Amino acid sequence: MGKPTGFLEFTRELPEKRKKEERVKDYNEIEKTFSTELAEKQAARCMNCGVPFCHNGCPLGNIIPEFNDAVYAQDWALAYEILASTNNFPEFTGRICPAPCESSCVLGINKPPVTIEAIERYIIETAFEKGYVQPNLPKFRTGKKVAVIGSGPAGLAAAAQLNKAGHLVTVFERADAVGGLLRYGIPDFKLDKKVIDRRVEVMEAEGITFKTNANVGVNVRTKALLEEFDAVVLSGGSTVARDLPIPGRNLKGIYPAMEFLSQQNKRVANRPVAVDHRGVNYENGELLATGKNVIVIGGGDTGSDCVGTSNRHGANSVTQIELMPMPPKERAESTPWPHWPMMLRTSTSHEEGCNRHWAIQTKEFVGDENGNLKAIKLVDLEWKVENGRSIFVEVAGSEREIPCELALLAMGFLHPQQEGMLNELGVEYDERGNVKAQNYQTNNVKVFAAGDMRRGQSLVVWAISEGREAARAVDEYLMGHSELEAKAVSMLNAQKFDFA
Ligand SMILES: Cc1cc2nc3c(=O)[nH]c(=O)nc-3n(C[C@H](O)[C@H](O)[C@H](O)COP(=O)(O)OP(=O)(O)OC[C@H]3O[C@@H](n4cnc5c(N)ncnc54)[C@H](O)[C@@H]3O)c2cc1C
Ligand code: SF4
Repeated sequence: MGKPTGFLEFTRELPEKRKKEERVKDYNEIEKTFSTELAEKQAARCMNCGVPFCHNGCPLGNIIPEFNDAVYAQDWALAYEILASTNNFPEFTGRICPAPCESSCVLGINKPPVTIEAIERYIIETAFEKGYVQPNLPKFRTGKKVAVIGSGPAGLAAAAQLNKAGHLVTVFERADAVGGLLRYGIPDFKLDKKVIDRRVEVMEAEGITFKTNANVGVNVRTKALLEEFDAVVLSGGSTVARDLPIPGRNLKGIYPAMEFLSQQNKRVANRPVAVDHRGVNYENGELLATGKNVIVIGGGDTGSDCVGTSNRHGANSVTQIELMPMPPKERAESTPWPHWPMMLRTSTSHEEGCNRHWAIQTKEFVGDENGNLKAIKLVDLEWKVENGRSIFVEVAGSEREIPCELALLAMGFLHPQQEGMLNELGVEYDERGNVKAQNYQTNNVKVFAAGDMRRGQSLVVWAISEGREAARAVDEYLMGHSELEAKAVSMLNAQKFDFA
């Protein structure tokens, strides 16, 4: 423990954020990295608990008290070594993780928790700056070849670990750039894409091959992969979005959130904007919120990303609506410490300006004579518990229309795309339509699955964890044993965090 009285002397401080008025004019990252002084002070708040619940709350089992101690001792190399031993990509989680570790930090019982996520970002940025992050080539090659399909955080983590074990890894990605939702989902103002490029360069130097515009099941033959490779890891994400089939759905002006968000990321990257992963032009062309009344349907974080992007486009108004009732402002009684708290969350995008409404149902999309969306018909809901089940009824007389020229559907994802690659492989699905895989292995012994494709829509930290675990399972399958790190099993890790 660096400073025994640290948690009594110092209060929790968060990284500096750029001013709202300035940041809505661009797509640069909002949050800054801690200064050295602040990182040390915040690390000093860690009590190095005998039973560190933070470590347990992290899906990666990050060894948090030890890296906090090393930061306080100004031993950056050691801090990096500890962090990198459980997390391949702290530069992603240090920026965009909702930090379940902080929700379970012991200090959080009666004080604000340790700023673990910001310290993580500080460690990895310092490590890159000081040149500690170097390509780490495996000491020997096994001669085994593994194909990883999908280059999101799950695929990247699996590739990094399998390469470390000495296997020759090729990553197939159908998009024109590597990164999955890190690249073409999460906005640049939350995660600068240079951060992905910097990591991919290290991975390439370590011997991993990346093939982009390689759509398995379309321009890469699925069966050929089974013949050419000794094992295959499926990490294609959960891509089938939930729709809203109500009257007026066919009007112009109603789009899935992902179409809107990925277009903006491409615009920032100076890549062709209105083209999907197959290189096919979007039917609706470029989507812009400029001058429009935008309604984001879905109160989760994908919706919040649409809010931030719409404000940057210069929307006339931005409203986010949600079917469920408003969560409590403080941690709900049903989710006491050290559980992930069910509570109201206000993102940086909400801070920038947005009307937020809960317990609302969308009844109908209303169009003009040219088939363009002009309004949305809504109704308030009253939620109640009947026979132990939550149900809702419409509030009589609350039906109304509000002007809207752009509606973005952000109601989560159902499961991975099954037609094409997955059906050709003949993998089984679970009851939710995700790829079924016991210990990450599917019904085809050569084929493994990880990330949202196996788990359903989730978080980056879970995708990294799944990629690492799947790599270990593949290594055991190929070699009979594995020396890749195993994750500590945790009760809290069993919690499910959704990212709708
Ligand atoms: C808008 C949005 C914002 C989010 N923000 C956050 C956040 O702030 N923090 C957080 O923790 N989580 C966030 N999430 C969730 C997080 O991004 C996902 O849980 C995570 O990216 C899943 O990783 P993955 O590797 O399993 O899949 P993905 O990231 O979805 O990557 C899958 C990749 O596989 C490729 N692919 C699919 N099929 C094929 C094929 N047949 N051939 C070749 N390639 C294929 C896809 O093109 C894609 O690139 C967000 C999600 C969304 C939608
Ligand atoms: S639970 Fe909090 S105070 Fe305790 S070791 Fe972890 S970060 Fe430090």
